[in-house]
Amino acid sequence: MEYSKLAEFYSRIESTTSRTLMTQLLVELFKNTPKELIDKVVYLSVGRIAPEYTGLEYNFGEKLAIKALSQVLGLDEHTIEEKVIELGDLGSAGEVLLRDRGMEPKERLTVEEVYDTLLEIAKTTGVGSLKKKSELFKKLLSKATPLEAKYLLRTVTERLRLGIGDNTVMDALALAFTGDRKNRDHIERAYNLSSDLGYVAKVLAQEGLEAVKGIGIELGRPIRPMLAERMAIPSLILKKLGGRCGAEYKYDGERIQAHRKGDQFWLYSRRLENITHQFPDLIEFLKESIPHDFIVELECVVIDPASGQIQPFQVLMNRRVKYVSRFHILKYPVAGFIFDILYLDGEDLTLKPYPERREVLEKVVKTTDRINLAHRKIVDSVEELESFFHQAIEDGCEGLVCKSLAENSIYEAGKRGYLWIKYKRDYRSHLADTLDLVVVGAFYGKGQRAGRFGSLLMACYDPETDQFKTVCKVGTGFTEDDFDKLENILKDHRIPHRHPRVNSILSADMWFEPYLVLEITGAELTYSPVHTCAWDKLKPSRGLGLRFPRFTGRYRFDKRPEDATTEKEIIEMFLQQRQYRVI
Ligand code: AMP
Repeated sequence: MEYSKLAEFYSRIESTTSRTLMTQLLVELFKNTPKELIDKVVYLSVGRIAPEYTGLEYNFGEKLAIKALSQVLGLDEHTIEEKVIELGDLGSAGEVLLRDRGMEPKERLTVEEVYDTLLEIAKTTGVGSLKKKSELFKKLLSKATPLEAKYLLRTVTERLRLGIGDNTVMDALALAFTGDRKNRDHIERAYNLSSDLGYVAKVLAQEGLEAVKGIGIELGRPIRPMLAERMAIPSLILKKLGGRCGAEYKYDGERIQAHRKGDQFWLYSRRLENITHQFPDLIEFLKESIPHDFIVELECVVIDPASGQIQPFQVLMNRRVKYVSRFHILKYPVAGFIFDILYLDGEDLTLKPYPERREVLEKVVKTTDRINLAHRKIVDSVEELESFFHQAIEDGCEGLVCKSLAENSIYEAGKRGYLWIKYKRDYRSHLADTLDLVVVGAFYGKGQRAGRFGSLLMACYDPETDQFKTVCKVGTGFTEDDFDKLENILKDHRIPHRHPRVNSILSADMWFEPYLVLEITGAELTYSPVHTCAWDKLKPSRGLGLRFPRFTGRYRFDKRPEDATTEKEIIEMFLQQRQYRVI
């Protein structure tokens, strides 16, 4: 398959502002892709080289790309840098400069060659790696047409910015290979268990839907995490869970999915990054505590070894370093609170109800001062729930996760549902909870901040339509350092028009690909004529907006845009807020 086909597809996607059209274009692309290439095309379309959990990245900075381009074109780097400033990005600069040179390559690039070379670039590490990466990339560039060069440059510098999400890919796969969008559920289940959409696509294209249904758990391959809905009123939580639930402490640390196969361990973050190297101490503790092959989920926190007290989340962030040394291990000692088990000695436990999974945990985990089970109580009254919640806060937790005890309380991989309900309260504001919102646009500032952005347009996520819907414009809570940091992060995600998956009435001065999630607090949720969250759902021609929004200072790098607070959660919060008022 010629790479030009992919480049043309990118170009068409880039000019669309409609998600439906985006899906149609993907369907067309998948149908025209040879079956054995479908996994590669899926990875490339979402701007990756392999599933996220492999941790494979190009590590090919813009400077290196400029140098490679200058050598291929025989131009000095300065000329290229000027063009980048003029056109706003390296891809466009490369395209124009190649076109100006007026040479058409003799050979055609194929998707296979591009993929294999990019993979080699990603895998090249260590001494002399930059030179080797550059040589590899130059080979591709010298065979590229101007349009191909544009996307090769963006791909290798990780700035493809098409914003095609997993949900769009899954819809398109179902339509392209089964003709029926309903089959997406099977694709999604396979993806949730394997975290590898390219692999699922290949099985689907080559072996069909039945084979996709057979995709299961494999040790070392992360399972997409189950997520909790939120509610703020204990009586409603109990009602929703049938009058009785397993209330567990909600520890405020880092969620880790730990896999063990013999002596081999893998640790994955909530975003499925491989963080095995970050917690060698935790691995030793787990080795001692669970002498089996397993997949468990735990919350990792820093503790004060003398008192066993849990330290705030910010302290744990000191362990987010490239090389963990003895210093880090001793200065920031960690403990794990296990709250679920998904696999034990060859058996998939995800479809067993929660009480059974918890029983297994209680049986197999030998608790120590570093490995414990999440503190839990079965409660069936509001008083008990309230008092356990206060105890959790006292003990340094964020609140509770209330879990269904029903027959159907399976581990719903990759889903946010009411089998788990988080109950946390934020004492800093009137709002019952903070929101995790996605930056989708920005407005220019005034006065001292003229010419730079002064406020950000923030959106929630609606999984039903796979859209990001606006909730507020936030300009407070940021320090000067934050603004610098934000500008630095967001410049790589700037796009010329509203992203097709963003639903906004407001017209921002700058638009961004949905990427960065920030924690936002506010006074209350109210009906809004300008924000699209819950538009027409509660009141005609009104959405929901957050009044007096403020950045809490917490960057949620651990959340993908699709992990942001959902529209449904915001509606729920709004309704609960009103109930509070009536009481
Ligand atoms: P949130 O990050 O606010 O969406 O809340 C859900 C998160 O709570 C999960 O992703 C876990 O990281 C964390 N958590 C802490 N304790 C527990 C627990 N006992 N059960 C489930 N999740 C927990």
